[in-house]
Amino acid sequence: MKIIDRTLYQLTVPTPFAVGTVHMYLLKGDTLSLIDAGVKTQEAFEILKTQLNEIGYQPKDIEQIFLTHHHPDHTGLVEAFPRVKEVMGHNHLDVWLRKDQAYFERHDAFFLNFFKQCDIPERFLGIKKKLSYLLQYAGEGSLTTNLEEGDTLPGHPEWTVYDTKGHAQSHLSFYRKKDGVFIGGDHLLKQISSNPVIEAPIGKGELRAKPMVQYRENLYKCSGLEIKQLLPGHGEIFSNVSEVVQAHLQKQEKRALRVLNLLQASEKTVFQLCKQIFPHRYESQIDLTMSNIVGQLDYLENKGLVKKRNEGGKELYGATVGK
Ligand SMILES: [Zn+2]
Repeated sequence: MKIIDRTLYQLTVPTPFAVGTVHMYLLKGDTLSLIDAGVKTQEAFEILKTQLNEIGYQPKDIEQIFLTHHHPDHTGLVEAFPRVKEVMGHNHLDVWLRKDQAYFERHDAFFLNFFKQCDIPERFLGIKKKLSYLLQYAGEGSLTTNLEEGDTLPGHPEWTVYDTKGHAQSHLSFYRKKDGVFIGGDHLLKQISSNPVIEAPIGKGELRAKPMVQYRENLYKCSGLEIKQLLPGHGEIFSNVSEVVQAHLQKQEKRALRVLNLLQASEKTVFQLCKQIFPHRYESQIDLTMSNIVGQLDYLENKGLVKKRNEGGKELYGATVGK
């Protein structure tokens, strides 16, 4: 537990994921609120209880929850607070909190088709199993209030909501202008670049979003704010925001350039690029490596540097400019 100031505390619990621990933030105002809800394990709940006790609270004292995004390490304990009546976040979060079967069916169908387009072999389709593995750690409930950019947090009017899609299509961050404190969920982390994950569209018949393009736009949006202290979902608190943003942008541009160079040699599918860019990771992490490659391609396509064409259901990407 870390005291940020008299109205703001950082709470930290372990997760069963490679990312390690996850932070939540306790906000004291007209109501007692929690930003994010950790992961659904007994261990996380016990540790959270101990940390709340250190500040003089118990789970039953929490009155409302704001969620930065739908990933299981941020929603896990939403049901663990008996007095919470308000769970607020981006409206894209609702299908995840409700564990909406109709959405999950669309999700599976989307990825089945998407993997075909990417030419990813069928043996990788275990991605479905991964979803149910992850969902066991996610909280269940429903969103009571939708938040969007420009809103202030009910009960905490000094906090403004920012849309920070990219890492997730439900991602929001919260900014307190008077002293430049920014609660950024997984949008901006110091050591890790947040993987902009490809998601199945929420609505029927909608096109997928381009998360890398959104992520970059929202990094620029954050570097335009006067952030003095960035309170992340994982890892260290930091203040050199422009430097961290620049480092993430440059790292991504460098990888996009490698992708472009490969395409200048010959047309390729997403899967071929996964193998060439991530030779040691694609077998065990097809979803993350695929998301990253598709992100680089969306970015390059937006710049007019690559073009895709469909050949027998597969998408082939090629460079529009020579070396
Ligand atoms: Zn996340």
